[in-house]
Amino acid sequence: MTTNSQWNGQFSCFDLVARTADGSRTIVRVGDLAIGDGSFVVMAGPCAVESEQQILKTAEFVAAAGARVLRGGAYKPRSSPYSFQGLGVEGLKLLAKARKETGLAIVTEVMSESDVEVIAEYADIMQVGTRSMENYSLLEALGRCGRPVLLKRGMTARLDELMQSAQIIAASGNPEIILCERGIRTFETATRNTFDIAAVPVLKAVSRLPVIVDPSHAAGVRSLVPVLARAAAVVGADGLLVEVHPEPEKALSDGMQSLPFDEFEDMMCDLRRYVVISPALHDMRSPLLMAGGVN
Ligand code: PEP
Ligand code: MN
Repeated sequence: MTTNSQWNGQFSCFDLVARTADGSRTIVRVGDLAIGDGSFVVMAGPCAVESEQQILKTAEFVAAAGARVLRGGAYKPRSSPYSFQGLGVEGLKLLAKARKETGLAIVTEVMSESDVEVIAEYADIMQVGTRSMENYSLLEALGRCGRPVLLKRGMTARLDELMQSAQIIAASGNPEIILCERGIRTFETATRNTFDIAAVPVLKAVSRLPVIVDPSHAAGVRSLVPVLARAAAVVGADGLLVEVHPEPEKALSDGMQSLPFDEFEDMMCDLRRYVVISPALHDMRSPLLMAGGVN
């Protein structure tokens, strides 16, 4: 894709994350997983880690369907102080257990600079949520954390502001950054956020970083998630971050937008018509789970 000259002016100052002169791109590697190499990487799991059974069961299912990364919040940014706030370190331990059982890499959100060290001990990818995109001291700490960062677009942020936050992480020592479009605030209220589909090709044109889409927080309702995921695949995204729950109606957060297992499987089937998704990690399935020991 050629870069429009107006975009050049707007984005070239972010020299550590902007498109390179020769068009070479950053590939973020986690073990044998490559994000941004032309394959389509699916990161799936519940909004929040709720229990051992919930996270292991979900990990097993999404791995078998072709996901390569397990998502799940242990530290949750909730708008109400009375809502479930996450299991904290206990949640991180459960994620690590799920990784051991399935071979999936782990992505989980870090909200505070003071949690960076402990989360980096357990996570493979550090997620910066929409509310933290402009938390510059957090971004600087993530520059030194030694793990790739999944940087979500702020819900009221322009793309140059997203690039600026990426530049801060890179300038602090960490060039391993994945950008994520998750919907923005507009006057439209029919969806939870407005999915800015153009963000994907624009970011792919102006930055060197992998770009993924979170259709769950854009949609807010599960019926729209597969079609937004398909749009992301078709428009050139490097992957997805998507919410999946064994019993969405009982989820402690974001149940309305979480896919149950059968709908996740259908979505993965549909996506395979458009992009190359890794084959399932069957070899790594846990004997305990295979034997039905956790249900
Ligand atoms: C999440 O991924 O569960 C989350 C809180 O996302 P966002 O920061 O995009 O709202
Ligand atoms: Mn969520």
